[in-house]
Amino acid sequence: MPNSEQQAPGGSDSFDVIVIGGGPAGYPAAIRAAQNQLRVACIDEWKNRDGSATFGGTCLNAGCIPSKALLESTELYHRAREEFATHGIGVAGVTLDLAQMQKRKAGVVKAMTGGILALFKSAGVIPLQGHGKLLAGRRVQFSAHDGTRRELTARHVVLASGSTPIELRSAPFQAPQVVDSWGALEFDAVPKRLGVIGAGVIGLELGSVWRRLGSEVTVLEALPDFLAIADQQLAKEALRHLKRQGLDIRLGAKVTGATVGGGAVEVVYADAKGEQRVTVDRLVVAVGRKPFTRELLAADTGVELDERGFIKVDHSCRTGAESVWAVGDCVRGPMLAHKGKEEGVMVADLIAGRYGEVNYKVIPSVIYTAPEIAWVGLTEEQVKASGRAYKTGTFPFLASGRARAMEQAAGFAKIIAARDDDEILGVHIVGPMAGELIAEAVLAMEYSASTEDLQRTIHAHPTLAEAVHEAALNADKRAIDSINR
Ligand code: FAD
Ligand code: NAD
Repeated sequence: MPNSEQQAPGGSDSFDVIVIGGGPAGYPAAIRAAQNQLRVACIDEWKNRDGSATFGGTCLNAGCIPSKALLESTELYHRAREEFATHGIGVAGVTLDLAQMQKRKAGVVKAMTGGILALFKSAGVIPLQGHGKLLAGRRVQFSAHDGTRRELTARHVVLASGSTPIELRSAPFQAPQVVDSWGALEFDAVPKRLGVIGAGVIGLELGSVWRRLGSEVTVLEALPDFLAIADQQLAKEALRHLKRQGLDIRLGAKVTGATVGGGAVEVVYADAKGEQRVTVDRLVVAVGRKPFTRELLAADTGVELDERGFIKVDHSCRTGAESVWAVGDCVRGPMLAHKGKEEGVMVADLIAGRYGEVNYKVIPSVIYTAPEIAWVGLTEEQVKASGRAYKTGTFPFLASGRARAMEQAAGFAKIIAARDDDEILGVHIVGPMAGELIAEAVLAMEYSASTEDLQRTIHAHPTLAEAVHEAALNADKRAIDSINR
């Protein structure tokens, strides 16, 4: 965007709100603030590999959206090859055009990132593409991509600078062989052997993408438990299905080195049996992300970072500096787009003197593998540790007419509820469209619903959502469509 277009109307450089960062935490903050009749600018410095500047941050450009585009395409490819015959559909000669798959993905990303500019225009947010740095007294130094620099002022500043991948000293990034998640979304050929360090969300999603396209995928996870943060009944079921798809997931594997040579990478790791080696053609390092605050804060702003580099905030995302807020991946809490979005909206409403709150207890997690893995609230391990008496209800998708009709009957839905007042404490689903199904559980928990509330709610038949209904019934051993155990 030419710099002249970046001037605020009227040439004024003072705003009610300046948001630094235009990812899923920052851009909703800017839009909601503008909806609240405030004069708003959103500064973002994202640049794509082709040099183009776009809003949307990690999520839209190099995270949620491109990964889901590839997950969708590769799942269709996999089904066409492996599952259509079961439906009686002959599709001999299914071929892969990876360039076209990547082109489609790029098109989806472009449509979504371009959409943000349209949303800004409609809401009246002023987009500023370049670097923002907070100075003392809520002044912001803006350095446009063309090198011009100006000082802006605001009544409130919202920091939404996001996160970047963690690099391992034992396996530093070395493109094209050793890459981060963005690199793994951009491969232009299917690696014969793919190594992934970290069996977390990215490792499983991107490992699935390339496995479905034919890579031999080895995933090295340092922890002895698979998906340690998830309900372990759910994790065990997911692991079974992912292994069956051919993901070679090695637990308790601590990587000690990775050597690039001859177009391949030799990875050395230690497990219970001693030192091991695996040679791969490409290695993805997906061991978590860290907050990104480089060149964001002048020394005297009063905004503090914690020992892990997150911007320190209170429950309502206020930093220690007056009228400076921070949201999204750069602050504590799960690094999820929807968590950042709700924080951004909350802050924009609080700034306008309206009510705003984020219910951190009911943030859903979704892993978009096949089957999908989704949960909200407490795991059974956490409830057990709390000492509260509880009951559980489960429903296997094998007993779901819809799942059977879809030929996707893997997994189950599980509800954990308090014994005393029946309140739903956690819902865990591994199965088809689990990421969609979890929304009902989130809403139920937001309203402090009981399993009885779900039991008495009519669910259309035949739908996958009936699994949640039947799991709620099973919590009181009153399921109709499965044997009550
Ligand atoms: P970001 O999206 O990182 O955006 C921050 C923006 O601020 C960037 O554009 C950055 O360039 C800009 N910026 C930083 N500093 C400055 C500065 N000083 N001046 C100007 N601009 C600046 N989450 C989900 O919920 N669901 C998913 O399916 C999902 N999939 C993912 C897949 C992958 C491969 C990855 C890597 C992440 C995924 N995530 C997913 C996580 C999600 O992307 C992040 O939680 C989310 O992007 C965080 O939003 P944010 O706005 O806080 O930060
Ligand atoms: P993660 O925290 O989900 O997983 C990292 C994994 O790497 C963990 O299992 C950890 O034990 C393991 N690990 C750490 N150090 C290791 C080492 N040295 N050797 C081997 N294993 C090691 O992180 P991620 O997968 O990199 O994802 C980053 C963030 O992006 C996450 O916070 C996630 O929430 C977000 N994200 C979300 C989605 C989604 O919502 N579907 C998708 C992708 C990413």
